[in-house]
Amino acid sequence: MCLGSCRIILGPKVSKKLLTDTQGNVYIFTFNDRYDIDGKILRNTARYSNHSCDPNCEVEKTTRTIWIVALRDIRDGEELTYNYGYEYDPDSYHDFPCRCGAKQCCGYILAKRYWGLLPKNARASRS
Ligand SMILES: [Zn+2]
Repeated sequence: MCLGSCRIILGPKVSKKLLTDTQGNVYIFTFNDRYDIDGKILRNTARYSNHSCDPNCEVEKTTRTIWIVALRDIRDGEELTYNYGYEYDPDSYHDFPCRCGAKQCCGYILAKRYWGLLPKNARASRS
């Protein structure tokens, strides 16, 4: 599945802060160092893919395209998920709690490579 039918946002990159400052849903996807993509175009159904700490898909980017690629066979009607890949910021990771329900959920929307940076009590304190 391609994230196609998007609008490229020119200029300064959109920060995760926008996600917390904006009312309603925002579908911003970091494309590269220069551009973010606004996926709110109505025919773009890829925007409904949720984050999971145990995703069934992953994101593959080319120079012009973003693909959401299955990591395994996906059952009919199963939700498509991928790790949103947020970077670790010790001052704001707690603003993005994860409720994916995966057994190994780290408690936050965070790229797996950063899970070891979470404070020891961060995972235990999630509800
Ligand atoms: Zn999770």
